[in-house]
Amino acid sequence: MWCANVFTIFPEAFPGNLGVSNIGKALAANIWRLNLMDLKKFPAKSDRIDAIPYGGGSGMLLSPITFEIAYESLSNDAKLCKKIYFSPRGRQLQQKDLSAISHAPGITLLCGRYEGVDQRILDHYGFEEVSIGDFVLMGGEVAAMAIIEGCVRLLSGVVGEADSISSDSFQNGLLEHDQYTRPQTFRGLSVPEELLSGDHKKIREFRLQQSKKITREKRPDLWIEYVAAEMRAPWQH
Ligand code: SAM
Repeated sequence: MWCANVFTIFPEAFPGNLGVSNIGKALAANIWRLNLMDLKKFPAKSDRIDAIPYGGGSGMLLSPITFEIAYESLSNDAKLCKKIYFSPRGRQLQQKDLSAISHAPGITLLCGRYEGVDQRILDHYGFEEVSIGDFVLMGGEVAAMAIIEGCVRLLSGVVGEADSISSDSFQNGLLEHDQYTRPQTFRGLSVPEELLSGDHKKIREFRLQQSKKITREKRPDLWIEYVAAEMRAPWQH
């Protein structure tokens, strides 16, 4: 079963968002497991889980001794999982990263608090630093929930219609096309003719062209990648 191991000093923040909707149902149905590691239960000898930074500065850092004791209590299987530490200076993950993680046995996540963690935790255990945006949160718990939710919805049996994942933004390198529902006219704005035609081939083509236009306009970085991939393997597009 896919497992998320989460090191945090606030386990009570979980499952939070992960307990609702399809993700929560999948948790209850044992499609995935949440293994919360409460760092407060693993104090270092000083009886503290954090300490002031060498060289001065405000705030406290998670002690490497605390982390070591907590980490050692993980199962051997969990120790083999990819490790992510949430940090504003990290890389932002993409859908393909989440897809790779969802195909692995699980993930190990470390949520920072206060000023963060001792660098040697990251260096020794091989954590990748991951950010969810260029802004600073109070802790990594919300980031952990975001990444877990993104991975769990890719697990088999979590999202009802397999199609709804394959047409999501990023799945094929493009952003999603616009969507419409009833009524056909709202405040003078009509649903595009093409979507009312009933001609599935025409609708697919219209949506693809719209996805391309939206990606080009909103995310030129993705568009450049898409065009390059199309030139490398035109039969896939
Ligand atoms: N001193 C750190 C810095 O300037 O990079 C910020 C520490 S922040 C107050 C506390 C914790 O929140 C971090 O250790 C990290 O785990 C989490 N965090 C804050 N912003 C984040 C972001 N944009 N993405 C992921 N995690 C974040």
